[in-house]
Amino acid sequence: MKLTIVGCSGSFPGPQSPASCYLLTAHDGTRLWRILLDLGSGALGAVQKYMDLADIDGIFLSHLHPDHCMDLCGLHVAVRWNPDGWPTGRIPVWGPAATAERLATAYGLDPEPGMSEEFDFITWAERAPVKLGPFTITPYPVDHPMEEAYALRVEVDEFDGTGVDRHVVLSYSGDTDACAGLVEAAQDAHFFLCEAAFQEGRDDAIKGVHLTGKRAAEAAVEAGVRRLLLTHLPVWTDPVVVVEEAKAVFTGDVAVAVAGVHYTI
Ligand SMILES: [Zn+2]
Ligand SMILES: [Zn+2]
Repeated sequence: MKLTIVGCSGSFPGPQSPASCYLLTAHDGTRLWRILLDLGSGALGAVQKYMDLADIDGIFLSHLHPDHCMDLCGLHVAVRWNPDGWPTGRIPVWGPAATAERLATAYGLDPEPGMSEEFDFITWAERAPVKLGPFTITPYPVDHPMEEAYALRVEVDEFDGTGVDRHVVLSYSGDTDACAGLVEAAQDAHFFLCEAAFQEGRDDAIKGVHLTGKRAAEAAVEAGVRRLLLTHLPVWTDPVVVVEEAKAVFTGDVAVAVAGVHYTI
């Protein structure tokens, strides 16, 4: 499985990165599949550096804050108004129950049909795995001020040409404070893409919203992950500070996400 950091700026786009969007690709033995975890503000432009929009196989939303879903508004235009016609069918979008209505409102559309002619909206059921191509994605409820917010566990059985499928696990925190759902989602993951929007000492009064580098690392230790990539840092959070917080707790590989970087998992 390959991960591309399309956007990783926390809460709103920064000068170097769009808001949250991660492209995952994996081969099922027949073809390459491409899915997006979140499509936050500013990400639709950047994603076109890596793929044709018509090749998106599915979109998986962690929650409905604009920095995780708002560029579906632009994608809806790309699907609906392409003068050459949209070459494929509706794009499946998994998300909270309110997704279709929220996006229709954001765009000023009547909720019926809203964007349902461009997107096939499917509602998450917590802890219920969804299968798409080589991917199995399972949403775990997390602690964030939204009616539904999830960490996403992505498991892949990838055909690598040797006749033996390779099973790898990537866990994505979405937005959350420390909670049991986060650890459950990340259990024994090869790669833990975990938010660290806050800094210890600066944001301590705000509970139930975001992690710090320290709290992300504590979840990484508890879950037994192999590799930790900190993400969703807003422009006012210092990457050096959150990495140092994390390294004091987690002895494995730790880094901060940078837009445009690819990882093979
Ligand atoms: Zn966010
Ligand atoms: Zn959020």
